[in-house]
Amino acid sequence: MGAHHPCLGSQRGLPYSARRGKKSVNRQSLDELKQQIPLMGYLQAHDWQPARPLSPGRWMGLCPLHGDHQPSFLVDSNKDLFYCYGCGRGGDVIRFAELYHQVKFPQAVAWLRHWRGVEPLLQEAARFYRIQLHRHGEAVAYLYQRGVRSWATIEHLRIGYAPGGCLRGWLTQLGHSLPALRQAGLVTGLGYDAYVHRIVFPLEGNLYGRSLSPSAPPHRFLPGSKGGLYAWKQAQSYPEVILVEGLFDYAALWEAGFHNVTCSLGTHLNARQFRQLCDAPRTVYLTFDADGNGSGQQAAQCLSRRLRERGITARAVSLPEGHDPNSFFVSGGNAAEFHRLLEEACL
Ligand SMILES: [Zn+2]
Repeated sequence: MGAHHPCLGSQRGLPYSARRGKKSVNRQSLDELKQQIPLMGYLQAHDWQPARPLSPGRWMGLCPLHGDHQPSFLVDSNKDLFYCYGCGRGGDVIRFAELYHQVKFPQAVAWLRHWRGVEPLLQEAARFYRIQLHRHGEAVAYLYQRGVRSWATIEHLRIGYAPGGCLRGWLTQLGHSLPALRQAGLVTGLGYDAYVHRIVFPLEGNLYGRSLSPSAPPHRFLPGSKGGLYAWKQAQSYPEVILVEGLFDYAALWEAGFHNVTCSLGTHLNARQFRQLCDAPRTVYLTFDADGNGSGQQAAQCLSRRLRERGITARAVSLPEGHDPNSFFVSGGNAAEFHRLLEEACL
């Protein structure tokens, strides 16, 4: 899968007006897309596991589209089709992407095209960065200072380190082309590694890089969407969910034993993240930074209003002035004290 990236470049921007004008051309490109992304491979890349075989190439498993408790999701890998006996939905890989990512058909196609080109590279880069973490004491020391102190948390978040100056060589040696690396944003126009001295967190279709050096911009993403809510699958099943804005906040809460936590990577939620929060009745604890200028509180107020309009209970957590959830724990706060903040959170 890793060696060729047929879609990089031109196809990403293929206009969907082509659907009306040149039906057959588009049909062909969709068929091609479906051939290149077998449904089973896509499902497994999104953590789906078959529970039992029905017949050769046909499997049952838990439905990733609804809260399923006994396998009702049928996958036919000969025909590349799925059907769920629980929620009654079915179709091909594009239909699955529409439902899973909660987007419309053209966005699902664009998502799959991007994924097909970039995903193998991102996987490879993330693997490389994880190996580097263990080789660079300064990165481990930084994590320690930010309250990420257990290997279990590092493994759970799949945290890596980009020292800079060696990813390009590694990936090209594996057969990835330089234009492909540039397209994914891993390498700059001048051919240098884009991430240098950064802690790296793999996201859905992206990599977040936090700089260790104070002179560089602290936060960086690769081009493209930051994806949905972080680790949403894990948090989704809880009736009460804690929403934070940064991955180090997420890591600190996780390490303190809060597993009903998710992260929006900023205080502005994209449409998909908002829909995810609203996908079932639940209480959301908005735990944005308590900045001096009040921007975190303002964002929380605005978001709670929108959530309430959708029937979701929203509570704004007040952290001590100047703190974010990460600094709260790093400066000695404990789980019991954080629980108290949750209890005191106002509607
Ligand atoms: Zn289902």
